[in-house]
Amino acid sequence: MERQLLSGNEAIALGAAHAGVRVAAAYPGTPSTEILEAAARFPEIYTEWSSNEAVAVEVALGASYTGVRAMASMKHVGLNVAADAFMAAATTGVRGGLVIISADDPGIHSSQNEQDSRNYARLGRVPCLEPADSQEAYTFTRLAFELSEEFDTPVLLRPTTRVCHSKSVVQPVEPAAITLTPQFVHEPAKLVMLPGAARGRWPKLTERLEKLAAWGETAECNHIINGSAELGIITSGISFHYAREVFPEASFLKLGLSYPLPERKIKEFTAGVSRIMVIEENDGFLELQLKAMGLSVIGKAAFPRTGEYSPDIIRAAAAGAGLTRPGNPAAAGDTELAKRPPLLCPGCPHAGIYFTLSSLGHRSVLPGRQARPPRLTICGDIGCYTLGAYAPLSAMDTCGCMGAGISQAAGMARAGLPEKPLAVIGDSTFMHSGINSLLNAVYNQANICVLILDNATTAMTGHQGHPGSGVSPAGERRNNVVIENLVRGAGVADVTVVDAFDLKAVRNAVKQGLAAGQLAVVIVRGDCPTLTRKRGKPRLVNEKCDDCGACLLVGCSAIQRDEDGHIFIDRSVCVGEYCTICQQVCPRGAIVEAETAS
Ligand code: SF4
Ligand code: SF4
Repeated sequence: MERQLLSGNEAIALGAAHAGVRVAAAYPGTPSTEILEAAARFPEIYTEWSSNEAVAVEVALGASYTGVRAMASMKHVGLNVAADAFMAAATTGVRGGLVIISADDPGIHSSQNEQDSRNYARLGRVPCLEPADSQEAYTFTRLAFELSEEFDTPVLLRPTTRVCHSKSVVQPVEPAAITLTPQFVHEPAKLVMLPGAARGRWPKLTERLEKLAAWGETAECNHIINGSAELGIITSGISFHYAREVFPEASFLKLGLSYPLPERKIKEFTAGVSRIMVIEENDGFLELQLKAMGLSVIGKAAFPRTGEYSPDIIRAAAAGAGLTRPGNPAAAGDTELAKRPPLLCPGCPHAGIYFTLSSLGHRSVLPGRQARPPRLTICGDIGCYTLGAYAPLSAMDTCGCMGAGISQAAGMARAGLPEKPLAVIGDSTFMHSGINSLLNAVYNQANICVLILDNATTAMTGHQGHPGSGVSPAGERRNNVVIENLVRGAGVADVTVVDAFDLKAVRNAVKQGLAAGQLAVVIVRGDCPTLTRKRGKPRLVNEKCDDCGACLLVGCSAIQRDEDGHIFIDRSVCVGEYCTICQQVCPRGAIVEAETAS
């Protein structure tokens, strides 16, 4: 077959297609999102954006129970959401091959933490494969399905950001010839985890692990590269490539299967070298297991415990620990991108609501004015709208994990916070897990105001569909859930829908929601301009402007001050009549449509 230049995510999708996968489910999350998007290009695979990661694993597990191969993909923090479903799959085992992909984010490029998914493999006693590049992403995905069926287990595939997004050449091999008719064979002792059945299954997980470790002793994915007898390096994933660059002369044991470990092979390798280093991003996951085997290894004592690795970081850490002489790392800044603050895009429907919250909550002040103590407690959530936390908007006080804002606000209200708390959540996050928090708020009569910012897409990860958008991963129309109907159906009596670009209406709706003596939901609806690509006549600033700076408080990157301190609008990015938030904010009427400027 022809070689292809693929990202790790595309290679995983190709590997899954060539392994005969029939069902793929995911919730979007960087760096894993493109796996499902690439899988959706194969018509033989049913693909769906599930409403959250637990649902995705449950959908894939259900498909597996009928004998077909299935997968669920997510980012590392998504595996927390899916943990219960993951453990259920680990316990019952599978019928058709089941692969769960959890993409880790060393360096926290787009996440809320740096947790290491390999720990879940140990928790669930399931094998973990770690690809180091696109070729391995392809090969290991195919291997994962085979292992899954051979050992009656879900397999955890753990790529990391660099592997997911970097492109390298992949040599595919002939697709597996799998033809079967899905069927469900009744076997309660395997699939119904009542205590009696679960007690029967649990020892099988330990047996499974032992068999997998034995398999790993001779598996190609765990291979030795012979080099110097002075230094042996044990590593996995992308760290292998970094370490090879820094220590080309060393001997290597590259572990494709990072759990369970092949003890005999490791001891053979370590017996032949005088010093052993373990190089791995995130946790000292391999190091801990190697030390538990009684081996003396240099790991996190020398190499960083946090952050993403690179050859320079490994080189500097090794020199700092006296393991090598200082090298010649590339001058800092040579390849660094220019730093810029994270901002909402020009024309973002969230700008108006955050400007409103910022002004109602005394968060932003005009130049020369005295700052006042902030008011309004605003519980945020995960999505583009988290950007409302940055200055000049500064309109967010909490942000923990998907769907938490509504529950946090309810907790504050129940704790006796004197002012009514606000929760802000996007439509996709609301579908993901916010709905659970809203049901709780209804049931427990939480007196809070919930703002659902509905732009009909999962914008932050690249405009994936969700139950409210009714768009499939392949772009086809599906049923869509109408948020206001859902909210009313959940029992919320006070529901308002408002246009995100009508500042006066937004302000009134928020004030009413805060004044109501009960749970109030305001749905703020407006299109994401990076999805619709609509561009209207841009705005400009005319001579009435006194450079007061009020429009800058919207936080739109199209509005700037020039070197002389005068306000101007960058016409190349302004979306014009599809926004006009700055026009509504200007107290002097100095922002006008370009053609009608006086
Ligand atoms: S992608 Fe869309 S929703 Fe996200 S900040 Fe940009 S305009 Fe706003
Ligand atoms: S355009 Fe209006 S809001 Fe902006 S600085 Fe000028 S007068 Fe102030």
